Amino acid sequence: MSRKKRIVVIGGSAAGPKAAAKAKRTDYNAEVVMFQKDPDFSMASCGYPYYVGGYFNDRNMLIGTATGVRDSQYFINVKGVDARPSTEVTAIDRDKKEVSFRNLISGKEGEVTYDKVIIATGATPRMPPVPGTDLDGITTLQSMKDADYLRKVRDDNKIKEAVVIGGGLIGIETCEALQRAGIEITVVELLPQLLTFLDWEMAKLVENHVKTQPANVITGNGIAEFLGTNGRLTGIKLQNGTELPCELAVVAVGVSPNVKLAREAGLAIGATGGIEVDKYMQTSDPDIYAVGDCIEIYNRISGKKVLAPLGDLANLQGRVAGENAATENIVTFPGTLQTGICKIFDYAAGSTGLSEAQARQLGYDDIVTTIVASPDKPGFMGGLLLVTKIVAERKSGKILGAQCVGPGNVNRQIAQWAMALMAGHTVEDLINCDLPYAPPFSLAIDHFITAAHVMQNKMKGRMDGISSVELKAKLDGGESPFIVDVRGPDEYKETRLGIGEVLIPNDTLRNRIDELPEDKTREIICYCVTSLRAYESALVIRAEGWKNVRVLEGGIMAWPYSLER
Ligand SMILES: Cc1cc2nc3c(=O)[nH]c(=O)nc-3n(C[C@H](O)[C@H](O)[C@H](O)COP(=O)(O)OP(=O)(O)OC[C@H]3O[C@@H](n4cnc5c(N)ncnc54)[C@H](O)[C@@H]3O)c2cc1C
Repeated sequence: MSRKKRIVVIGGSAAGPKAAAKAKRTDYNAEVVMFQKDPDFSMASCGYPYYVGGYFNDRNMLIGTATGVRDSQYFINVKGVDARPSTEVTAIDRDKKEVSFRNLISGKEGEVTYDKVIIATGATPRMPPVPGTDLDGITTLQSMKDADYLRKVRDDNKIKEAVVIGGGLIGIETCEALQRAGIEITVVELLPQLLTFLDWEMAKLVENHVKTQPANVITGNGIAEFLGTNGRLTGIKLQNGTELPCELAVVAVGVSPNVKLAREAGLAIGATGGIEVDKYMQTSDPDIYAVGDCIEIYNRISGKKVLAPLGDLANLQGRVAGENAATENIVTFPGTLQTGICKIFDYAAGSTGLSEAQARQLGYDDIVTTIVASPDKPGFMGGLLLVTKIVAERKSGKILGAQCVGPGNVNRQIAQWAMALMAGHTVEDLINCDLPYAPPFSLAIDHFITAAHVMQNKMKGRMDGISSVELKAKLDGGESPFIVDVRGPDEYKETRLGIGEVLIPNDTLRNRIDELPEDKTREIICYCVTSLRAYESALVIRAEGWKNVRVLEGGIMAWPYSLER
């Protein structure tokens, strides 16, 4: 009788268990051994902020199934996988085809031979290289241990002030979690904006929302030092010298792929710092696969290798590696659009594909962008705002990326854009998209399609848009376009941009056309709440002979700067 194939999986959180279970499902006779350094398996790390924030109270829900927790017994009984908790793999000997391990509780060491290995060692949180990182009161939110620590902070209810270092996805989610625990919170971000998967003006909308919660946000200023007394954190000092008192600091400045084992085993590491894999998830050694946060993968739009430490991708890659390790290389993973989403208090922010900044950085210079604001469903059904920015190639109309923020259903918008990107759709392809419609769910023309319509109008020259950033730069540069607010007088009384605008409601425009500048070449910029009425007004003004009429994209709803009122 032939010897059973042995597949060794290293790492037991997201990608590892998925790979192990898939391998066993694919080859019932294979012996699958999974080593996990942590005491728990299959932790829902993406759920940590919600556990800390008190959305649920039972810790086991992070590691649970319908019938209990995913412990080693569960893996043996249900998945047929020999899962070993608190056991670290210390080396991979590729000549002997053997991995060495050490049990972190008993100290017992051992070796196991393999036919195939799947590395799923995840990523390690980065620490800023500043003094004081060893003080008590500084943590990351990367492991169950971190989640337990921060949950205890919530339950003890003693900490009054905290800072979050880093305004990315995890930083922002942690900010919300701690704010919900009644802690006064400040997010400190070195870059000029939060959430760098968004363009600046989209991120600014999120930042404005965070500040209303309230939570403090400091951008463009990094940490210089953690300050402490008697070994305990008392505050932080910023690069501009400002000191912020705090008893807790959560560091969320990104993660680095955990490639120590792979590097020591002589496997190829890519320029991004992640383990190199091909489309089969195979490393430079055909008997070793790698998946999850420890690898680099292709961006499907740019074709460049990227790090994409995301839970959904880790699981998808795990399935591919598990199946391939159990058979031959029969399934592939095509790369990522870097689709992501996060919740920020009452807002969500998501993106897929390239932002404008990323596209330009990659050398796409002939691109067109547009920003569109509208509710996600009719007002009578409680419609909530969505602001979307799309980026497309000017010549082909091919969509390169989309971002969406707001209190509305951002998730569905981004999911739709991700499918459009996967299919390689152009703006034209989306104009008559057949999406589901009923008032509880969407507008008759969904926000997604409206965004495509606005982009089409722009590309066909029917609408000349101007972004908030371009308009602000004009005003700051001393230009004085003729700005028309086309809303009604009551709306104008309530909210105002205060950028030198003139109020001419769009239903009076045809009768008040002589109030526009005599010079028909003068730049005229129209806006309203979302710029829907502004577009109609711009068409009237154009038809009356003015040559340079523009629409403020997304209107007041997408205006990232302060309002006069
Ligand atoms: C707070 C938080 C929120 C997140 N939110 C989202 C989200 O909303 N959406 C999203 O897509 N992604 C999110 N992520 C990212 C997502 O959790 C990760 O992409 C995913 O967990 C990666 O899975 P992985 O298996 O590659 O790595 P990990 O989940 O990090 O697991 C790796 C495991 O390998 C073990 N290990 C390491 N070295 C060894 C060794 N030598 N021997 C044995 N075991 C070892 C580690 O102990 C660890 O348990 C979030 C992450 C965090 C921390």
